[in-house]
Amino acid sequence: MTHDHAGTTGPRLRGVLDTLPAYTPGRPAAAGADAPSYKLSSNENPYPPLPGVLATATAAAGEMNRYPDLTAAALTAELADRLGVPQSHLATGTGSVGVAQSLLHATAGPGDEVIFAWRSFEAYPIITQIAGATAVTIPLLPDESHDLDAMADAVTDRTRLIFVCNPNNPTGNAIRRAELERFLDRIPTSVLVVLDEAYKEFVRDPEIPDGIEIYRDRPNVAVLRTFSKAYGLAGLRVGFAVAHDPVAIALRKVAVPFGVSHIAQEAAIASLRSEDALLERVENLVAERTRVFDALVAQGWTVPETQANFVWLRLGDRTQAFAAACAEAGVVVRPYGDEGARITIGEKEANDLFLEVAGRLVGGAA
Ligand SMILES: *Cc1c(COP(=O)(O)O)cnc(C)c1O
Repeated sequence: MTHDHAGTTGPRLRGVLDTLPAYTPGRPAAAGADAPSYKLSSNENPYPPLPGVLATATAAAGEMNRYPDLTAAALTAELADRLGVPQSHLATGTGSVGVAQSLLHATAGPGDEVIFAWRSFEAYPIITQIAGATAVTIPLLPDESHDLDAMADAVTDRTRLIFVCNPNNPTGNAIRRAELERFLDRIPTSVLVVLDEAYKEFVRDPEIPDGIEIYRDRPNVAVLRTFSKAYGLAGLRVGFAVAHDPVAIALRKVAVPFGVSHIAQEAAIASLRSEDALLERVENLVAERTRVFDALVAQGWTVPETQANFVWLRLGDRTQAFAAACAEAGVVVRPYGDEGARITIGEKEANDLFLEVAGRLVGGAA
């Protein structure tokens, strides 16, 4: 093997790739271990697919020799009907991350700025950099909430898009209606504000607004939703945006053609039609969330209020040791450097096991 010489190296790749943070998937549960092992690291729905949804997806697989419907017309119609929005305001994609990436392609390139809170969803910096735009990150406040004033202050002539993750991943807390409206009133209408509502179905606080109501009379607001969390279709990759016409049209232009498979489209429709059964599962998870939250607080932990299907522990330099101890006990959680750990609410046995470990580690034993 010869060494590369200047000028004879391989294909020239974009320099931005060298600085791209890697997306860290939640680690899987340990396979083949004697003791049970649970994956509480990716905010997935712990329940297996509903039998009816699985049957629909299986039947749809019989058409895998055909391209799917490019426009996802049936799914779009079903969503438009349920949400009370025009079909033209909908754009589907390969998970809401796929749609978020399309939003960036439609709005921002080199020299442009994208604002978001940090820490927030780890895909934001990655897709911002891939678009060639500059990420402007605004630290969360000490209570883990978005610093909306600082985010509005950070807007410049170059700002093209602002992500507002509500509830925020990984901290779980959510922004209330009045603060969100006040923030949006401060943002120029030329800047697109994306309300990422991946965990919307888990929200129980009535003060937390439904982005669909917010977007209606605000042409610069888009809402992102996904079938990956409450609807349990993470593995099928389907999400969507609701946005006014110029934005929604742009999204459909830049989307990867045929990105959402026929299986995913059919499973998403079947899920919407099985909403009662699915939302009952969500209700169980919300009850488990309350139980886990209360138990952690009783153990002595400081836990931010959560409206999502996970809890956040700001552990600082104990983070990695905490995650390792959890894994050792059979629960895989999601550590973030030396900041903290996010723990997905899972099935009761998984949550019990996690609480048992947390009870041992409270007060610094990790
Ligand atoms: C999980 C998640 C998504 C959804 O991702 P998909 O691509 O739809 O699976 C989007 N935004 C946030 C904040 C999330 O946590």
